[in-house]
Amino acid sequence: MTIFGFGNILKLSTFNEFLTEVEIFTNSKISFDRLILLEKSLKLDFNINPIMINNIGATFVKLSNGEIFRSIIYVEKQIVPRFFSPQEILIENLNRYHFYQCQNLSNLIQKGAELSATANFNGFFKYSFVNNSGSIVYKNQNQHLLACKNCISEFNKQYGTNYNVNNFRTDLITVSQNE
Ligand SMILES: [Zn+2]
Repeated sequence: MTIFGFGNILKLSTFNEFLTEVEIFTNSKISFDRLILLEKSLKLDFNINPIMINNIGATFVKLSNGEIFRSIIYVEKQIVPRFFSPQEILIENLNRYHFYQCQNLSNLIQKGAELSATANFNGFFKYSFVNNSGSIVYKNQNQHLLACKNCISEFNKQYGTNYNVNNFRTDLITVSQNE
């Protein structure tokens, strides 16, 4: 019996060997998803990676092995005009990131938007600018984005603080599942 691995064919003689290889493959897929979520951004498939919220409405993402990470949710792709130049990018016009259960995020989920999540709180995001036909025109691995105003007002309510969009820092977003 043979199955395809990444670039090499595994020859397996017994069912147990097959099972072990499948487990290694599955585990490496989970490790890969974890790494992508923690370091870059994971495209969410809600059947596999549902968005979870804790009792104060903070957003988390579940991996297929049950691990749950505090995560920021955002739309990674933005449609740009035909004649686009990266110098014209205005941060105010880019998609905002969400870190609480807010109406904007609910709307995105309801209309089936392609959502990405990151558990990296450095404030810079993987981001793609695409044309009308969906082809990538420009990619930025470290795009600075602004937080969603609804999420900030939720944050202010929870913590009795008064941050505005321009000086909100992503490193403030650290709550536990049980909070
Ligand atoms: Zn929001």
